[in-house]
Amino acid sequence: MKLTEYYLPTLKEAPKDADIVSAKFMIRAGLIRKTASGIYEWLPLGMKILKKIENIIREEFNKEGALEVWLPIVQPAELWQKSGRWDFYGRELLRIKDRKKADFCIAPTAEEVITDLVKKDVSSYKQLPVCLYQFGTKFRDEIRPRFGVMRAREFYMADAYSFASTEEQANTWYQKMKDSYIRIFERCGLKFRPVEADTGTIGGNFSHEFMVLADTGEDEISVCPCGYSANTEKTEIAVPAQKTGEFLELKEVSTPNKKTIKEVSDFLKIPAENFIKLLVYKADGKPVIVLMRGEDELNEIKLRKFLNATEVCQATEEEYTQITSSPVGFAGPVSLKGKGLKIIADNYIKTILNGVAGASKADTHLVNVNIERDYKVDSFTDLKLASLGDKCPKCGQNFTFKRGIEVGHIFKLGTKYSSAMKAEFLDESQQSKPMIMGCYGIGVSRVLAAAIEQNHDDFGPIWTRALSPFDIELIALDTEGEVKQKADALYANLQAKGFDVLYDDRNERPGIKFKDADLVGVPHRLIVGKKLLPEGKIEYKNHASGQSEVWLLSELDEKLKNI
Ligand code: ATP
Ligand code: MG
Repeated sequence: MKLTEYYLPTLKEAPKDADIVSAKFMIRAGLIRKTASGIYEWLPLGMKILKKIENIIREEFNKEGALEVWLPIVQPAELWQKSGRWDFYGRELLRIKDRKKADFCIAPTAEEVITDLVKKDVSSYKQLPVCLYQFGTKFRDEIRPRFGVMRAREFYMADAYSFASTEEQANTWYQKMKDSYIRIFERCGLKFRPVEADTGTIGGNFSHEFMVLADTGEDEISVCPCGYSANTEKTEIAVPAQKTGEFLELKEVSTPNKKTIKEVSDFLKIPAENFIKLLVYKADGKPVIVLMRGEDELNEIKLRKFLNATEVCQATEEEYTQITSSPVGFAGPVSLKGKGLKIIADNYIKTILNGVAGASKADTHLVNVNIERDYKVDSFTDLKLASLGDKCPKCGQNFTFKRGIEVGHIFKLGTKYSSAMKAEFLDESQQSKPMIMGCYGIGVSRVLAAAIEQNHDDFGPIWTRALSPFDIELIALDTEGEVKQKADALYANLQAKGFDVLYDDRNERPGIKFKDADLVGVPHRLIVGKKLLPEGKIEYKNHASGQSEVWLLSELDEKLKNI
């Protein structure tokens, strides 16, 4: 491709609202342009890379025997009402009306449509299992679109859905798709990790997320040397040992103007891990008291799951005083004894002997607070957001933490959608049963941005071989005379050898060409200039290492083989 014939509008500066390296480079390098918040246009260079990722995914899905379909993005509300998600999905679901005032939505995902499709065509176990996939636009009205196409409202997804007649078949498909995901991200040349994950609004029995490791990732993952690895929001923590010993006398102490645990802890000279923190929550509207140790953070997903609630949220200040009869920030478990409130405590509360808690009146705390003698707990469970010092439940070793970008998510759905939507089949004994489903999604556009986050320098992306938009960038430092002649010939020659070449034949200063080449990020660069050419030589630059070499044109074939 000659640059003079290409559409590659590069920018010197990124727009002010580009808030992450990949977004900056994608806009500056002419991969995308912003249309509106979280909505982007894709330009030829961006499309070229996106299609490379798409092809890798298609090849690997096809290898497993999954079959490509194309599903509508405008979907009737009726299907979403059947699954129950019309109400449940909330405001991320963009709802629209057609000219007859019928309700529709723009697809954020396609479980409903595909379940309805398969239900219409499949009626016997003999037609199962089957796995269908598509590539297409998804729309989610994200509350905070950010990071360019990483958290966009409109984005490009590869989504697959498996239908099975037995648990075994369903698990086999889950494993097949998991294996194909591993091959896909390996082929993309990315450093990644599959981790255990929460199932979120999609629902189902269990799931794995695929995380591209990058410091800018929105997700945190917990990694144990034993191999257990999970999204931190899902990470289970080993139950710590209970601390036993002598109960000291319960006392009230004055803690004037000390608001935070840190302040009270400094003031009383008692470490924060001896504090019993009381949180007031509402689970599907009902009050719940949660006890956490000192500065430990509550994992709301664990709380929601434990309570089997659809929604949990922290009580407002008004609700707090009403429920606990205490000023905000000072409620403690002791005064709640016998009040009939549901009290749930994190397992770490058991490690506190002679603890500190709020005294349920302003500027006052209680010391030497102990379970059973001074307060009661309805249940202990694991509620803590995993952090340094927590131990793996499988082997007891300490977790380490890494940041990741979720590029793919696979779910064993079970019969959640097939039961709700009556997608049933007749088994061998002519019994009607709901199909067992799995669903699998890769954010294709997010993969591209994640690849840049993982591999870039100060001047632009550094593409892996599989994702690079071109094999080689050829730069002619002159647009006339011998340099142009040789560069033209070299371009034709490289193309004839099967290389996909970007040829910078523009009438521009070398500085501009090099800057643009850095932005485009092709790993191998050949430079034809006046200085070396008379000696039959050109310059080769490896973009990733930054190393340059001088090559004899006569040795070109040999050299190209080595790269
Ligand atoms: P997240 O936790 O990042 O919101 P999710 O769990 O909602 O993701 P899924 O519903 O599992 O995502 O969608 C499958 C894949 O689609 C994700 O793994 C991700 O790569 C991609 N994806 C999801 N939301 C977005 C978005 N707003 N912009 C770009 N890609 C997205
Ligand atoms: Mg989401």
